[in-house]
Amino acid sequence: MFRHLKCLRTVQRPLNRRYFKAFTVDVVLNDVKPVAKAMPCIEMPQVIADRDYKYKEGQVYHGFQCEHVEHNAGYDLMSCLLRHIVTGTEYWHLDCNDINNAFSISFRTPPIDSTGVAHILEHITLCGSKKFPIHDPFFKMLNRSVATCLNALTIYEWTLYHFASRNEIDFRNLMRIYCDCVFEPNILYLDFLHEGWRLEHKDVHNPKSELMFKGVVYNEMKGFFFENPRICRQYVSRYLLPNSAYYHMAVGDPIHIPSLTHEDLIEFHRKYYHPSNARLYSYGSFDLMETLSFLDKEYLSKRDFQDTSYSIIPPQPRWTEPRRMHVSCRLDEEGASPDLRNQIAIAFLMCDRTDIQECFELLFLSNLLTRGPNAAFYKALVEMDSSGCFHKNTSYAITTRDTHLRVGLQDLRVEDFGKFIEIFDNTVHKTIEEGFEAQHIESCLHNLELSVKHQVPNFGKVILYNMMSVWTHGGDVVANLRIHEQIAKLKRNLRENKNYFQDKIKQYILNNPHKLTITMSPDEKFDENFEKAHKAVLQEKIDSLSAEDLQQIYKTGLKLEAARKAPVDLEILPCLSLKDVEEPLRIPDLIEEHIHGVPTQLCKVNTNGITYFNCLFNMAGLSQEDAKLVPLLCNVIQNMGTDEHSFAEFDKLVNLKTAGIEFQVKVVENVKDYEQYQMGLQIKTFALDQNVADMFALCEELLLRFTLVDIDRLKMLVDTYISKLSAGIIDNGHPLSMLQAASLVSNAAQWKSQLTGLDHIDFLREFAQVHSTEEIRDRLVNIAPKIFSKSNMRVAINTSESFANTALEHYSTFLQNLPTVEKMKGRNKLLLLAPSFQHYDVKISINFCVKAFYSVPYLHMDHPVLRVISKLVAAKYLMPVVRELNGAYGAGARIGYDGIFYFYSVRDEYSTKTLDTFDKTNEWLLSNKNKLDEQMLFEAKLGVLQLLDWPTAPGEKGLDYFITRVSQEEYVNYRKRMLAVTIDEVSAAINKYFTHEPKHVGKCILGAKDK
Ligand SMILES: [Zn+2]
Repeated sequence: MFRHLKCLRTVQRPLNRRYFKAFTVDVVLNDVKPVAKAMPCIEMPQVIADRDYKYKEGQVYHGFQCEHVEHNAGYDLMSCLLRHIVTGTEYWHLDCNDINNAFSISFRTPPIDSTGVAHILEHITLCGSKKFPIHDPFFKMLNRSVATCLNALTIYEWTLYHFASRNEIDFRNLMRIYCDCVFEPNILYLDFLHEGWRLEHKDVHNPKSELMFKGVVYNEMKGFFFENPRICRQYVSRYLLPNSAYYHMAVGDPIHIPSLTHEDLIEFHRKYYHPSNARLYSYGSFDLMETLSFLDKEYLSKRDFQDTSYSIIPPQPRWTEPRRMHVSCRLDEEGASPDLRNQIAIAFLMCDRTDIQECFELLFLSNLLTRGPNAAFYKALVEMDSSGCFHKNTSYAITTRDTHLRVGLQDLRVEDFGKFIEIFDNTVHKTIEEGFEAQHIESCLHNLELSVKHQVPNFGKVILYNMMSVWTHGGDVVANLRIHEQIAKLKRNLRENKNYFQDKIKQYILNNPHKLTITMSPDEKFDENFEKAHKAVLQEKIDSLSAEDLQQIYKTGLKLEAARKAPVDLEILPCLSLKDVEEPLRIPDLIEEHIHGVPTQLCKVNTNGITYFNCLFNMAGLSQEDAKLVPLLCNVIQNMGTDEHSFAEFDKLVNLKTAGIEFQVKVVENVKDYEQYQMGLQIKTFALDQNVADMFALCEELLLRFTLVDIDRLKMLVDTYISKLSAGIIDNGHPLSMLQAASLVSNAAQWKSQLTGLDHIDFLREFAQVHSTEEIRDRLVNIAPKIFSKSNMRVAINTSESFANTALEHYSTFLQNLPTVEKMKGRNKLLLLAPSFQHYDVKISINFCVKAFYSVPYLHMDHPVLRVISKLVAAKYLMPVVRELNGAYGAGARIGYDGIFYFYSVRDEYSTKTLDTFDKTNEWLLSNKNKLDEQMLFEAKLGVLQLLDWPTAPGEKGLDYFITRVSQEEYVNYRKRMLAVTIDEVSAAINKYFTHEPKHVGKCILGAKDK
């Protein structure tokens, strides 16, 4: 499955993804966002042949023939398609003025069974190769690099390895490792056992202890079956596309994984990781010639051409009759009440993924039909029943060769399946009859155009993710990037045919016999049957063992443990040097002034014609009861309408003029005065410059004149919110367990958990049970005026130099209309708590473990030293023990701005054993501090640097300072101080902070009972 390494990093910098959900499809983020400078006229042709471009079509560069060169004006980048003459390997380079360079290698790896061979191979290639014979060089490079992204993933029919870095030496280092890993991996038997599956004694040292299946992927995939929406998605592709690779579970079914042999794996690599079956990609400003020369010399010129038609996935033969089926799933402990935990989805096979314009238009149509309160299916289905909410998988799936639309509901009664189907059919007929409102189409188009202009930090990766399915199936990636052309064509089609979308609905939905209706209900015996089936596979394996085999299993177990514990020679891996990373990032100057008494920060950057508005309302003076309801207020306020507009009308206006208005709760430690913290409600939005006046007017309308009068709708929103929170506990297990452990350390962190963590979920569940919707409404209505006033707010605006004055004028008008109420004074003093432990019991087979304790906050001299120590502990102690030895998906340590120091594990089979490992950190640090050398120290610093220098897009510049008050100067000083940390200082800090068990410590397990 996905190796989202980013989630193992200590700081997550979420991008503003809310809006992009509208264009997110299936598992791949479809958030195309540019680094473009100029907005071209939509109707202009996009392709500009540049005769003077440095690379010419037909020319050969280091064994690669340049086949196509094209300038994409929309994103201001040069697209260069090449093909390796000997192996036929395709290479796509996007040349642009972005230093965050990206590189990837991908292979078409359609599964032929459900043993998860492609997924296991993805893990094992990263376990050592010819030039880098070392276990997990991938993870080890995390601390030897300043990569802004480093990942590998397996999706249905392709496997992708990719990374990005702003440092060219680093970029070349990572490329050398990745290429060697995929083209020359060692695929050792012991690694196969460790990463894939193995039979082993529960206690490796005791040959009498019971035998069980172990293995990283085996465990990972067991966890997969605990998440019902995922199972449902899996079933839809399996049964809608039954005649192709999609029938199998590419990432591996634990029932089938134990049939995979080491030989199968080697053979799969030989066949599918051949360069002829590979696609290479690079993006950014680094020299392409050096990359091509390296690839040709080191790998490709040594190989021959192979016909790779075997990996092509044929189109799914079309049905003549719709099909229906019912499947069962596990009874989820979390979420709606048991009789409500059924799901239904209707899926239609649509066009081929390589039909670019058609896919684009169907994606647009599916958004019109399903996204937001004005969408026909949303209106009819979600609102049909107050308990139901859209199925997580409702979307137009474009990751498969034959694309498909899925529409479904979750959390409904079995009796309502029929009602769902009836309403679905009626909605289809009604939409064909009535068509779409022009303003609705216009607002979706506006949203799309705005998304194209909005810039994101890792754009090279974003393009890649969007293109993978097109590319894998032989589609034209260069054409797929001409998004403006697609928009212009769609507009023309809509102009020329008034029934354009209705015709598509007739073709793809109404008259489409390739339709699958799938219903899913929980089965109380699901877990029991699941276990039984796995035990049967296990028993079968055990029964076939001879005494000799048993002896061998015991010996291999010990050998594997020894191999994992053996010291590794990291010197074979490349590493950056201090001089490569000395330069700090330059943050644009921030202008701070008071406008109508409101502290306002202005950041003038090239925002590509967009103005970004961030606003933080202080809510520290609210009573505890009120504050706990603010997250709910954030969730309902924009979905209920205003005095002037119904919620549907308001939504239309918001999407016509802005990227959406997002509300969220923030609890931020005051880095200047760590006795204090601030609680705030943050509002984020952005708009094209020409719509900024409307953006502020809409914010004003919402803040001052929102209405909660529609009680039925409010009840639905409250129920949906609680059900979504509950259902997301496992998906968000890592951040939730971190919050929970921290909440046992200080009152500030406790607040965070009460506002955004597990405590919040528990509180709201109970609150909604004992209070009527009318009572909830009254409480929310009373809270809002206490917060929404200019006396309580701070603002950050990011806009271009040329538009700044106009933006400020509109902003000033907005402020004039905001009321002034008494300033909230609430002085929240930091209280540190006595040691405690909490087990948050959830019925899953994996755990999230965290130990958190209070150390020192950001501006303290020791903070950078502790941050370096956190990286040391993660790389040298927790990763080897908790991940490599004990098989957890991830493990690490981090320290927050607030001084809370964490040890954590992610998707961990063990719990108390892991907490014991955390407890032994002191011992490990004290006994290893004298072994620390300059290289180890530097690696830890690089790990910190990746986080300090995290890339930000223009719309986010200066926001760190706005939220945390850490200035550019303080960032530079902190960075300098961190890079200057010495071995002696580390040693002194170990003595000071890790000699005794901390005074303020909390431990938390989110997961099952201990095993
Ligand atoms: Zn995996």
